[in-house]
Amino acid sequence: MTTQFKKPSPGITPETKPFWDAAKRNEFMLVKCVGCGFYRNPVSITANICPECGSRKPGEWVKASGKGRVHTYTAVHRTFDPSFEKELPYIIVIVELEEGPRFLSNMRDAKPEDMKLDMPLEVVFEKVSDEVTVPYFKPAK
Ligand SMILES: [Zn+2]
Repeated sequence: MTTQFKKPSPGITPETKPFWDAAKRNEFMLVKCVGCGFYRNPVSITANICPECGSRKPGEWVKASGKGRVHTYTAVHRTFDPSFEKELPYIIVIVELEEGPRFLSNMRDAKPEDMKLDMPLEVVFEKVSDEVTVPYFKPAK
């Protein structure tokens, strides 16, 4: 039985669909520029232009390590969206991925008092519906 996902769903676009398809396979993918090798945050692509070298060639999807470190974070104690209330307090984190890009996510297996800047993290996947599996991050073992 599938529980219905009550939270706002990620806006899956044709440009980001490979990322979400990979997440369903529990793989964390990034886009690598074919011109200069720069890794891009796949869910922030609004135009297919490399921010490093300006290449307009489509990047190639590559499997990433799924590892990174805490760049910054915030603990949320009140939410305007009732669908998040059960998780309060929850932690929003910007992960500096091993490959370079920063990735906005939520923490799993951590309390606000556990969080430290530069703390090593690893990706963990949660299937929230048949269509969507969300990558979150947890403290690395
Ligand atoms: Zn480039």
